[in-house]
Amino acid sequence: MVEMRKRTPCICGKEAEHRIGTTEQFVFESKIVVNNVPHFFCDFCKRVSFDGDTRLVSILSNAYKQGLTEVDYEKGGEISMITFKIDVSDEVKKEIERAVEGKVDEIVDGEEFTVIVDEKAVLGISTGDLVEIERVIEKVL
Ligand SMILES: [Zn+2]
Repeated sequence: MVEMRKRTPCICGKEAEHRIGTTEQFVFESKIVVNNVPHFFCDFCKRVSFDGDTRLVSILSNAYKQGLTEVDYEKGGEISMITFKIDVSDEVKKEIERAVEGKVDEIVDGEEFTVIVDEKAVLGISTGDLVEIERVIEKVL
């Protein structure tokens, strides 16, 4: 694990301190509160900076897509929601969800993945903690 820097120079010339706290961000017209976000805070000019953090962006975009107004940064890495672009029965949805949960360690953020459910290949894509099931390939060759 990379050691976290405790201080970073602020643009005002002073030093910003590393903290974990709540931040409010706007995604278009929606205000989203993110809790437990690591960030730097400058006591002198009150500027908040995120040290090149890209995970916050994906957490915010997922929260926006899900219509959430408050999310937790710590839980951002987990799959919190599986959405279906395809029309399948609730029973099949449950099977797909189980298959995705079982494969969660192999799923790479931002990349397509495949799970096999009932001899069919199910194609999905993961972005942050959101998984979207895109299509079912009826015949597995
Ligand atoms: Zn400052």
